Amino acid sequence: MSEGQRETCDLLIEAGFVVPVEPHGVVLEDHAVAVRDGAIVAVLPRAEARARFDAAETVSRPDGALVPGFVNSHAHNPMTLLRGVADDLPLKVWLQQHIWPIEGAVIGPDFVADGVTLAIAEMLRGGTTCVNENYFFPDVQAAVYKRHGFRARVGLPVIDFPTAWAKNDDEYFDKAGEVHDQWRDDPLVATAFAPHAPYTVNDANFERVRMLSDQLDVPVHLHLHETAQEVQQSQDKHGQRPIARLDRLGLFNDRLIAVHMTQLTDAEVHLCVERGVSVVHCPESNLKLASGFCPACALERAGVNLAIGTDGCASNNDLDMVGETRTAAILAKAVAEDAAAFDAFTALRAATLGGAKAIGFDHLVGSIEPGKQADLACFDLSALETQPLHHVVSQLVYAAGRHQVSDVWIAGRHKLRERELPGMDVDAIVANARQWRARIAAISL
Ligand SMILES: [Zn+2]
Repeated sequence: MSEGQRETCDLLIEAGFVVPVEPHGVVLEDHAVAVRDGAIVAVLPRAEARARFDAAETVSRPDGALVPGFVNSHAHNPMTLLRGVADDLPLKVWLQQHIWPIEGAVIGPDFVADGVTLAIAEMLRGGTTCVNENYFFPDVQAAVYKRHGFRARVGLPVIDFPTAWAKNDDEYFDKAGEVHDQWRDDPLVATAFAPHAPYTVNDANFERVRMLSDQLDVPVHLHLHETAQEVQQSQDKHGQRPIARLDRLGLFNDRLIAVHMTQLTDAEVHLCVERGVSVVHCPESNLKLASGFCPACALERAGVNLAIGTDGCASNNDLDMVGETRTAAILAKAVAEDAAAFDAFTALRAATLGGAKAIGFDHLVGSIEPGKQADLACFDLSALETQPLHHVVSQLVYAAGRHQVSDVWIAGRHKLRERELPGMDVDAIVANARQWRARIAAISL
């Protein structure tokens, strides 16, 4: 090919290994990813890439493994400021005597903006490029994600009691409509309905959520079957398990992002398949709060789309999708009593493409394919902890740590460069977090 025929691109990323996730089970050696206008235009051998493209910038990572950016499919990122504030307590005491009173004292636009900013920095340093967010003040969250060029689906909260965000049902729905309208055409930030949980949302509000989510064509992000107690409470109050109740209300469908799902009968697993419900597995939150075990392997083998989330930092206590993916993989084996269950490729797929699909972003992200946005994470596998490199995906899932993420791009923009965060003032973020520590410590419980 002569010089005159060379194509231009903005960015060429050369990596020792590329794990595209789609097709499944593939590791490409010495490949490159060409990016133009934020999107992937080609995935090809490095030598071919050099011959074909004139790149404005070339980034070479010969010891790197390039993967799709992780999609954290369930988080409450303002709660990053509550990391470690009350641990090792029973769920009810933890929520009612600690988390809710503290939130009552601090919640507002500043708390939300500062928590999300801290979370963005942490997520980028761990290879996460997209989040499914669920908290109050979604208007503030959306603006902060946009400012930092971070991809997000922001939940529009619905809950039966007044909060700092809205004082009654109509206000929750009015505000949801306003935030949705403001972000409906944004390339980076979108919305979902986020009714809190079956035990905090009545039938009438669920019906409004169903009608509006159909009308606006947005997903519904919901905590569901998190604990045995939740299921029992629903039986007592409604005469139905929460899934049956949601199915009666028309919400158990392919828009539903069902988070936790630790209590499932075989029939409920099959109903997930039939209705196209996506399940978000949050293993570390479930373990720490002793909520139960999501049957990830049974769901995956039945054909349910599975995603992975960290949950909020008050119950995890980090936003580490690398660690969460490992926990998901090994816990799935233990629960299935089968060491062959939920292999490394399957775990990585759930943490990337599974999440993208769950939140309706799979046309945009989740795999390294031409036409998708260049949301990418690169791991440096040269460290002794990931040597010798017998199997790249095994090292990524079972041995690597998030500190080995060297680079991250979102829509082709370099958001983490050799562990540095261009465009973010890390010292200021840490100083601000310390200031919140003092404010929270001063709250009398
Ligand atoms: Zn949650």
